[in-house]
Amino acid sequence: MKITRASKTTINFATKKKREILNEIMDEYAIVVNFFIDYLWEHPEIESKNQIIADIYNLSNSWFTARMKQCAAREALSMVLGAKNNKNRRKSPSEIEVEELLGEEIFNEPIKPKHYGKRMVLSSQVVRIETGRNSFDLWLVLYSIGNGIKLYIPLKKHRQMNQWFSMDRMSNSVTLYRECVQFSFEIDIKEKKTEGILVGMDAGINHLIATSDKEFLGNEIKPLIAKIKKKLQGSKAYKRAKKTLSYYLHKIIKDYFKNNGNLRIVVVEKLKDLKIGKRNRSKEFRKTLSNWNYMELLDIIQMRCEENRVSFRSVSPYKTSQRCPSCSHTERENRKGEEFKCLKCGFLEQADYVGSLNILWRFLTGRYGAGFKTDQILLNTIG
Ligand SMILES: [Zn+2]
Repeated sequence: MKITRASKTTINFATKKKREILNEIMDEYAIVVNFFIDYLWEHPEIESKNQIIADIYNLSNSWFTARMKQCAAREALSMVLGAKNNKNRRKSPSEIEVEELLGEEIFNEPIKPKHYGKRMVLSSQVVRIETGRNSFDLWLVLYSIGNGIKLYIPLKKHRQMNQWFSMDRMSNSVTLYRECVQFSFEIDIKEKKTEGILVGMDAGINHLIATSDKEFLGNEIKPLIAKIKKKLQGSKAYKRAKKTLSYYLHKIIKDYFKNNGNLRIVVVEKLKDLKIGKRNRSKEFRKTLSNWNYMELLDIIQMRCEENRVSFRSVSPYKTSQRCPSCSHTERENRKGEEFKCLKCGFLEQADYVGSLNILWRFLTGRYGAGFKTDQILLNTIG
């Protein structure tokens, strides 16, 4: 099953000068689109993009290149067709009354659309994406615009985009707004399994992950992270150590899915916030994985889920490490390092395993988990 997913990211990292140029382009774009709307409105015989040939888009005397004019003409066409197809709008009772009196339909006329310069739909003939060489992840490059303009707009990828781009997918279309850019991706979705086991996963201290099935994965994580921390940030050795860690994450997750063919749903903790303040420091320190590593780990898990038709869910990390899975008593002192001991009922377990149980519990008691209750889970949660 193929579906289209769109993802937006800000263009606010661009300099003021670049933003000004971009605004000029968008102003001109609106003028050109409206020019073509006027033209196409009078030429209803043009019904498909293929009919917009050079003879037509060269009618505009804008400073845009032919390619840009073509983009504008195409958007004009889709707006005109949209408006004309919308003619079967619902009429008001008084409109119907008037038409009955006149004996003819007069309220079917479509209304000519107008472009207000809020967005540009650009083709790969005028826009491309380049990966960054410095702190910015991506560059949106506008070229062949006209007046010799070539614009490099820095973008930051977010997790979702990261994942889609990493699958060697190119965006099917790029829509530029005044404040952001939107990429659309066509994604092949396999239908998810409807049977199997539900698993909660928590990132641990001495191992990468504890699962609600009481499996502990990736026991070599600690030295690998220590190695990175010893290197000078940005150095070759640092990058090499990070790559080794990344490879390790991939391997552990891959093996886990290979050994657990009966998975139906995997539940993880959401990352709280990228900008971790002092408030959350302790929690972050508890996890040996940095935010960035954790994001990568989630991406990898999600990727393997997709591949194996397993549903991927995430829940809030709120107090998942403090709640007793046996009696629900929640207190910070329940947890001491690797050990969880309930101060109320005495329930004793490995702390990360407890975390993974609570992650699964949160999902099952949440809005989307209610339908998934099984005997397997209840047994687990009771411990
Ligand atoms: Zn308890």
